[in-house]
Amino acid sequence: MGCRYPCLEIDLARIAQNTNHVVKLCRRQGIEVLGVTKGFCALPEIVWAMHIGGIRHFADARVENLYQLRLNRINGPFTLLRLPSLSMVAEVIEVADVSINSEFEVIKALSSQALSMGKSHQVILMIDVGDLREGILPEQAIAVIRKALGHKGVSLRGIGTNMGCFGGVLPTQKNLGLLQDLGREIRARLGIELPIISGGGTSSLLLVENLTMPPDINQLRIGEGILLGTDTTNNRQIPYLDRDAFILKAEVIEIAEKPSIPMGEIGQDAFGQKPCFIDRGIRRRAILALGKQDVEITGLTPKDEQMTILGGSSDHLIVDITDSTAQIEIGSVVNFSVNYAALLSATTSPYISKCYNNLNILKEVPI
Ligand SMILES: *Cc1c(COP(=O)(O)O)cnc(C)c1O
Repeated sequence: MGCRYPCLEIDLARIAQNTNHVVKLCRRQGIEVLGVTKGFCALPEIVWAMHIGGIRHFADARVENLYQLRLNRINGPFTLLRLPSLSMVAEVIEVADVSINSEFEVIKALSSQALSMGKSHQVILMIDVGDLREGILPEQAIAVIRKALGHKGVSLRGIGTNMGCFGGVLPTQKNLGLLQDLGREIRARLGIELPIISGGGTSSLLLVENLTMPPDINQLRIGEGILLGTDTTNNRQIPYLDRDAFILKAEVIEIAEKPSIPMGEIGQDAFGQKPCFIDRGIRRRAILALGKQDVEITGLTPKDEQMTILGGSSDHLIVDITDSTAQIEIGSVVNFSVNYAALLSATTSPYISKCYNNLNILKEVPI
């Protein structure tokens, strides 16, 4: 079946391989990997590729995506990775086995809802060890847990933290050590089991690689690394992972030699920005049928290093192809790698078709 452009080409074998590398690395240090599916809208083919790579526990920030996992007959447990909204506790109890939490009021509501539905729900209490996104401050943890323990519809499974997202704080032996110490304190003072200490996402992998992960950390929630082979927070490519699982492809609809500075008086562009240009003389430019309505264009990098993206609008992407040795004509297809933001938008976009390579690896699974 031919793919309609623009399309996101997804290599399931590379995703399964990456998953397997990460799962094995973490398993050797007693760490379970949750497969984070929010970066690709929980597309079932990709979820199954992660399953083949060894993931048995999936996590997503959206209840819609968790419902999709269930619809696609993927077995739980499922963790909700965004703090539940008070208005959505019924759905959360229905679709998620576990959720991350930081508000006592919400934990209380989850408990009542779970009791009324005859279900039980597991809670990971998020602790803020510095990034200043979600989580309670460590010194408040014991008090919140004491209150939560009275609510029998929920059980406290563990504590966790998130890093590198808002404040860009890097996970370290020191701040994850703080989480570990807090876990030990909670167990000692409250006499509870607290089996899970969840130490972050892709940015925490570096500590596993360096053998510096505090030993009590026994869960990581990984998306970016498995999907893209990158670790944006630490600004690195992960050397043992493949970075070509996703390629965005778009079609050329105009090619022209034009000056590099627009002619006429310059106002604002279509998005209210004042553009700024450098005079590089006459350049050969290709216009692609791809724009901001399709994808986060700032997250694209041409696979051909001799090409540069000059800019784009809602529906058009303009690429300088002067230095490329590729034979570019009308109808040619140009390939891009995507960062996390571009992956997120491309998989969400109804305008971008998805085509899969190595679909045959799914022959064993009920898709
Ligand atoms: C998105 C998310 C992750 C996964 O992060 P990656 O950097 O993609 O590995 C982990 N935990 C939480 C709470 C998240 O929202």
